[in-house]
Amino acid sequence: MTLVKEEIYQAFEDVVGKRNISRDAAILESYRVIPCQSSDHRGPYLQKTPVPQMVIIPETTEEVQAIVRLCNKYGIQFKASTTFWSVAGYIGGDYAVQLDMRRMKNFEIDSKNQIAVIEPYVIAAALQAEAMKVGLNINIPGVGCSSSVVASTSSWVGFGPTSISMGCASENLLGAEWVLPNGEILRTGSLGAGSGWFCGEGPGPSTRGILRGKQGTAGSFGICTRMAVRLHPWPGPTFIPTRGTVPAYKADLPDNFKSYTLCFPTWDAYADGVNRLHQNDILYLGHRQFTMFGRDIKTAMIMILNDPDKQLADIPALCEDPYLKEQNEKMKIDIQVIIAGETKRDTEYKEKALNKILELSGGWKSELMMDKDLTDYVLLYLIRLGHKNLNFVMCGGYEGNFGLSPNVFVSSSVMEEASALKKKWEDEHDYIAAVGGDSDMGSICTMGGGGTTGWEFFTHFDSHEKESVEGTADFFNATQDWMTEKKLGTDMGKWNQSARRPDGYFYTQEEQDEMFSKLPQPLVTAYQYKVREAFNPNDLSGSYYRTLSTKKLEEISRSEELK
Ligand SMILES: Cc1cc2nc3c(=O)[nH]c(=O)nc-3n(C[C@H](O)[C@H](O)[C@H](O)COP(=O)(O)OP(=O)(O)OC[C@H]3O[C@@H](n4cnc5c(N)ncnc54)[C@H](O)[C@@H]3O)c2cc1C
Repeated sequence: MTLVKEEIYQAFEDVVGKRNISRDAAILESYRVIPCQSSDHRGPYLQKTPVPQMVIIPETTEEVQAIVRLCNKYGIQFKASTTFWSVAGYIGGDYAVQLDMRRMKNFEIDSKNQIAVIEPYVIAAALQAEAMKVGLNINIPGVGCSSSVVASTSSWVGFGPTSISMGCASENLLGAEWVLPNGEILRTGSLGAGSGWFCGEGPGPSTRGILRGKQGTAGSFGICTRMAVRLHPWPGPTFIPTRGTVPAYKADLPDNFKSYTLCFPTWDAYADGVNRLHQNDILYLGHRQFTMFGRDIKTAMIMILNDPDKQLADIPALCEDPYLKEQNEKMKIDIQVIIAGETKRDTEYKEKALNKILELSGGWKSELMMDKDLTDYVLLYLIRLGHKNLNFVMCGGYEGNFGLSPNVFVSSSVMEEASALKKKWEDEHDYIAAVGGDSDMGSICTMGGGGTTGWEFFTHFDSHEKESVEGTADFFNATQDWMTEKKLGTDMGKWNQSARRPDGYFYTQEEQDEMFSKLPQPLVTAYQYKVREAFNPNDLSGSYYRTLSTKKLEEISRSEELK
């Protein structure tokens, strides 16, 4: 591995000062990750991401711009990451620098216009707490409240439990300030026109589409230094009062907040119920949450999480408890929802409409989950989204697969078959947790008001054990075969397989050409190549931005003409 020359290191140090740059081996090692441990949807692999040349912690937009310019001058790859939940934020080459955005953490709330202007290291918990003081709230994606709002809004999908009432990140991103990969600064929407932060698109042709569409470019198109996001009404107190003790505090919210677990007798009834929830504007929040632990142990896990004296070893005994067994059976096909009325009348209307939807679709409210402590636990869990450690609690690692999240009618029709396939692997092998097949969880929608869902089957495995990782990868190959046979597209556990190699490195252009020339619609990646050539001519940001070179495209076109 080539090390950067002293004078180059010095040039970066001159930008941020000695305290904010490091090439200490121990520090650099802490900026690597085992890819299979961080929900990146590229399948479970063993190798860590490469060691960066240096880690830089900038404080201002000007510093970020100077760093990107130096990277261009010296041909060094760069990647910015903020709260580092995702492997997408780690570098993928030997000659690369890692930017850690933790020093940029200012924000301001404009409550009149329901906007917050934020820097990268503003985590959702901090923004939510301040927004609630002025009667507002934010959509927190499923990654949880200790994640950066800028990261998920600029660079990933950004849907979560509240997307049904607040929309997804693409709908909440307003004006943004962005250091492009060539070192220029782009200000999008109204900000670019000098009119403030309120609008993400226009006037004139929108430049925002270069940076993100429904999904962002996972940090491979420059560095967002500031953005405005939409805030949404919060019909609650100025903070969430809590009671209880670790690990399961409960929210003491007023009566206009109600949380329920809705259960359905069949997947058809469930699809009908979810569709009706999409069509009627009554939910504040909707999420399949506790099924992530698995169909067979759902109620046992809820009991463990709510009792500081219990632990995972209590699962078998709790599964034998007759009442929990009965309730577990009734919650086989379920979803957690929250309604939040603006007024007493609004709450009554929403409650009535919810009951009618259950009546029409044949569903019911779970009796177990109406226990006061549990409703209040769920309110805090899902409104605050502060329990993301629990995703990893079963075996240390997990990855979402299948991803049966498009149209709820399509996914519901194959849900039992998918669950049976997973259960077969759970029963026949011991490298994934045996939890009853169905562990399909996630958000009720990936866009405001409804539409597609955001569900994934959690597969729990040990990310530090070679056999478990490799066995899980085999399982994902089997589920991909099943998805292909059903014409359901790419398995979620492989969505980013074309963005980073199994050894943790980015793909070269030649490797991308090989992959993307076989796409049914290669022009998409060919077009992205042109965009990259315009804004990232030195190709410094890695292969999460998928490209097919013009040369390769011409080659394919010629051979097709010959045919
Ligand atoms: C437990 C878990 C649950 C998840 N659930 C969901 C879910 O329900 N819905 C959903 O949409 N996603 C979900 N994800 C994915 C997650 O939302 C994104 O990966 C999220 O952006 C990662 O979190 P982070 O805030 O720590 O960002 P980071 O890991 O710091 O960065 C994420 C990406 O943003 C880029 N980035 C970071 N800062 C900047 C910046 N300033 N400028 C430009 N690029 C930047 C990084 O390069 C990286 O590609 C989940 C991830 C995990 C780990």
